Amino acid sequence: MIRKILTFENYMQFKDVVAQDALKEQLIKGADTEKVSQANLFLGVEGSGTLPLALAYAQYLNCENRQEADSCGVCSSCIKMSKFIHPDVFYTYPSIKAGALSKDYITEWRKALSNNPYLSLTDWLAFLDNVNKQGNITANECDQIVKQHSLKHYEGKYKIQIIWMAEFLKKEGNKLLKIIEEPPENTVFLLLAENIEEILITILSRTQVVKFPRLQEKIIAQNLVSRLSVEAEKARKIAQIVEGNWNAAIQLASTNEETSFEEMFEWFHLLLQRNKNLEIIQNLVTWVEKMGATGRENQKMFLKHTLFFLRECLIFNTGLTSRLNEEEKILAKDVIKRVSLEEISKMSELINNLHYEILRNANAKIGLMSASFEIAGYLNSK
Ligand SMILES: [Zn+2]
Repeated sequence: MIRKILTFENYMQFKDVVAQDALKEQLIKGADTEKVSQANLFLGVEGSGTLPLALAYAQYLNCENRQEADSCGVCSSCIKMSKFIHPDVFYTYPSIKAGALSKDYITEWRKALSNNPYLSLTDWLAFLDNVNKQGNITANECDQIVKQHSLKHYEGKYKIQIIWMAEFLKKEGNKLLKIIEEPPENTVFLLLAENIEEILITILSRTQVVKFPRLQEKIIAQNLVSRLSVEAEKARKIAQIVEGNWNAAIQLASTNEETSFEEMFEWFHLLLQRNKNLEIIQNLVTWVEKMGATGRENQKMFLKHTLFFLRECLIFNTGLTSRLNEEEKILAKDVIKRVSLEEISKMSELINNLHYEILRNANAKIGLMSASFEIAGYLNSK
């Protein structure tokens, strides 16, 4: 189970979505002038806000008392949206059992969205306690979508179908072609995806693609301060390593201490010890045990921060302005003295692979231990 990250009073209004002002404006204008595109593909990397914006848009479309640039948040339609129980808004998302329908998991889905509407696929699978399984949108679910949109509206002005992680439609997506091409009146399809390459070309050609830009580093930092009251220096550091991913940013901000930053220092200090006596090895094992027990999110952040550090070491070494702080610069000097630039690149590759393995749920302790020895090898070869 993931911990409670944020609390919004009225999920999910435009104001709750970080940045993406141009897209908000475009959607609001379309809704206000009754020029609503019926088949849309929201395309953006994790943490760019495709799902939160789809929720805010759905809420706006059916709001009974639209305000200047947002839904009212208090009408009966908005209240139902805020609990994800609006009868005219349907959600499709990857599930884990063969033949399953999304609605089989609706309770979990509502909980997951109330917890964090920026959630990633990994978060969702973790929420279902099934990180080891691949998600899937089943053929049954596609049939269900067609069926539910051949029925009449209940109460909303628009009937809305949100399909999150549309990549998972795979071939079954062909079942939806007809309904996406000619949706019933006032029906809006919002397909959300991260990778355009994995979307069926037949679907792509029938939807209006809305591209979500990756959030800028300074936007992430500003919003961490203004929305989550993160201290400015911590916000700056988080923004540096999350690569525009607001989901990663809020998860890192919700950890109690700046662990990943301190953990990296501790790690490098152990690895830099020339004399690997029993005590140092024991300390390294203890460090790996501790890191291995912290959970995947923290490990991912630690590795991302280490990658950032190594990248900046290369820049620092050329004499260009790097984004390292004073403490990191001291460590960078120690590292640069010991290894060639090529070896720094090899270390980065190692960390990158470990990050990927941890994403794929590999045993973190084994990976961290072997990476520790390899990096110590580089650092102490001369
Ligand atoms: Zn409203």
